[in-house]
Amino acid sequence: MITRIYHITYYDHDKTAYVQFVGCNFKCLGCIRRRFTWDHHLYEDGDVRGLARSDVKVLTLEEFREIMEGVKEEMGLRRVVLGGGEPTADPAFYGVVRVLNNMSSEVVLLTNGLLLDKFLNSMPKDFTIELSIKSIHPEKFSIYTKRRKSDLDIVLKNMKLAFQSRFKVVVETILIPGFNEPQDIELLAQRVVSYLSEDVPMIIDEYVPVPSAPWRRPTLEELLEAKERSEKHLRKVIVRSSYTMKPLGKVCLVYPKSQSLRAW
Ligand code: SF4
Repeated sequence: MITRIYHITYYDHDKTAYVQFVGCNFKCLGCIRRRFTWDHHLYEDGDVRGLARSDVKVLTLEEFREIMEGVKEEMGLRRVVLGGGEPTADPAFYGVVRVLNNMSSEVVLLTNGLLLDKFLNSMPKDFTIELSIKSIHPEKFSIYTKRRKSDLDIVLKNMKLAFQSRFKVVVETILIPGFNEPQDIELLAQRVVSYLSEDVPMIIDEYVPVPSAPWRRPTLEELLEAKERSEKHLRKVIVRSSYTMKPLGKVCLVYPKSQSLRAW
C-alpha cells in the first residue's frame, strides 16, 4: 500500500525519528511547508544540497517498515514523531500505526485534529497527541486554515474526545504578531482548562515567516508574555522557539537519501 510519507529525519541526541507526510486537509497561511519542503533543521544543521522538490517520492508501507527497522537496529529508536503535512489525512494511516505498534517506541502524532475521531479507536493509548489549534476565534481559524468556521468546533470536540479516551493530549498553538496574540493564546489556555484540565500541557510555537503571509516573527518578550498569561490557567506551558531552544546533536537525513550524505 502507498503511504503519503515522503521524508524521514533522525535526531541523534534523543534518538527521535521525524516522519513527514505530504499533503494536508488545511491550507494554513503560515504553514512552514510553504517555505521548506524538507525538515528545516536540515537547512541549518544538516545538508539538503542533494535534494530538490522533485525528490518528493512517497514510500510504500513495506518500504516504511524496512527503513524504520533499519533505523532502530543501526541507530536506536526511542521516539517517533509523525508530522508533515497531516498524518491522519493519509489513507494508509492505519497501516502506519500498525507498523509503529510493533516498534515499541514512544509515538507523538502532530495533528490539526479534524479527522482525529476516526482513528482514536485504532491508536494505542500510549500515543501522545499534539493537537494544533491555530486560533480559538472561529473567524481567524477560518482565515488562517481556509476551512469553515464550524470546523473549529470539530477540532475542539475531537480534542475533548482524545482526552476522554485517555490519550496524553498536548495542545499546541502559534504566536503570530498581529493575528494570534498573547491575549488570544490566554483565551485558548482558558478553553483548554474548561474543556480538558489545567494539567494539559500547552506548547506555544514561534511563528516562522513564510512567503505570501504578511506577519513577522514574534520577539522573545512577546512569547514570554503569551507564556505568562497562559500560566495563569495551565500548569505547564512551554515556549518552543529559536530564542529558547538550540539544536542538540546531529540531524541526519534518512529518507530520501541525499547524494552528499553517507548512505544508510
Ligand atoms: S495543519 Fe499543519 S501541515 Fe496542515 S497546512 Fe496547517 S500548518 Fe501546514
